[in-house]
Amino acid sequence: MEKFDAIIIGAGAAGMFCAAMAGQAGSRVLLIDNGKKPGRKILMSGGGRCNFTNLYVEPAAYLSQNPHFCKSALARYTQWDFIDMVGKHGIAWHEKTLGQLFCDDSAQQVVDMLVAECEKGRVTMRLRSEVLSIERDEQGYTLQLNGSSVQAAKLVIASGGLSMPGLGATPFGYKVAEQFGLKVLPTRAGLVPFTLHKPLLEQLQVLSGVSVPSVITAENGVSFRESLLFTHRGLSGPAVLQLSSYWQPGEFVSVNLLPDTDLDGFINEQRNVHPNQSLKNTLAMVLPKRLVECLQQLQQIPDVTLKQLNSRQQSELVETLQAWRVQPNGTEGYRTAEVTLGGVDTNELSSRTMEAKKAPGLYFIGEVMDVSGWLGGYNFQWAWSSAWACAQALVEG
Ligand code: FAD
Repeated sequence: MEKFDAIIIGAGAAGMFCAAMAGQAGSRVLLIDNGKKPGRKILMSGGGRCNFTNLYVEPAAYLSQNPHFCKSALARYTQWDFIDMVGKHGIAWHEKTLGQLFCDDSAQQVVDMLVAECEKGRVTMRLRSEVLSIERDEQGYTLQLNGSSVQAAKLVIASGGLSMPGLGATPFGYKVAEQFGLKVLPTRAGLVPFTLHKPLLEQLQVLSGVSVPSVITAENGVSFRESLLFTHRGLSGPAVLQLSSYWQPGEFVSVNLLPDTDLDGFINEQRNVHPNQSLKNTLAMVLPKRLVECLQQLQQIPDVTLKQLNSRQQSELVETLQAWRVQPNGTEGYRTAEVTLGGVDTNELSSRTMEAKKAPGLYFIGEVMDVSGWLGGYNFQWAWSSAWACAQALVEG
């Protein structure tokens, strides 16, 4: 049986980073993944350019039943630390919007950087490996793999969440947590497009591809100001993805399609200058033409001139465009979700080391636990920060 100081399961963002940091500090680390390549999600991320962190990382950008849990790790390994590492590897980057940092060239550079850091830490990486069983005794953890067994005093679960099964996602981490008596909070898809109910979906399908700067608000009052994208399945775009993490089935969301316009004032002004102008042409000055035409066909925008528009119609119009209440049918689910909400209950873990309180030597890092970030580099930063905190503990203890 091969022996290591630590075994890490999952060669994704958190697992690779943790392995590299612990290996460089002197630990003999085995990193296992069931896939053919490490960092498959990193390669797909940020449209192939990996949005690897955010300039404005703060605990408020994370969802968890315990909102304080993420604070320690985020403060100890910050976005600036990761930016520093990216810089040392000569990876050029740029800020796209809202503090989101992307590689200028390709996400492959981030994977190459992590592989190089693992090599520097003499990490043993085993791909295409299945973990058949895990047992604990006084020596630590013994794992049966397909073809061999391995042992270490410390075991780190970095197997991620359920989003995108096509990229290797499995419920492995939750099963390990349950095996050792840890609570797993219910999971659901986050950062995911909304689907719509039949009549509305069919009515809006002609708008597929239309994007509108919007403010979307959930029933709990959380709101996001970004673009909304109409799709052939429903609603997407950054504003919708962000809000989906705060939405519960059955709830309504409120959409302001003209967040920067005093619509009443704008219509009154236009009416004074061009009383015979059609309402449709007036609205097309501030909204995409296709959207205006579709809403007129659905009789949400009256086919009248500005002077014909009465005050009841005008206030209904303002309601429609600035407080449109939509009840999503659901979400597209894990198939297209960027993250999994819920997971291993953080109350079971130490926020300083990520170690399970009930199972000494067992650690959980990254997305497998109940910490999920906003869209925009926050999830990778959680992977780096939680992995770094864990790596310190692997080496200390
Ligand atoms: P993962 O990166 O998912 O790694 C888990 C690893 O464990 C995988 O390699 C998997 O193969 C392996 N594994 C799973 N089960 C087993 C098993 N049974 N045995 C062995 N190995 C196993 N976040 C951002 O911050 N910025 C972005 O730009 C961004 N873009 C994204 C784009 C897409 C399409 C998706 C799906 C997600 C994106 N995210 C982004 C979210 C981000 O990818 C995740 O939050 C992050 O990868 C989580 O890191 P992790 O290491 O915990 O898990």
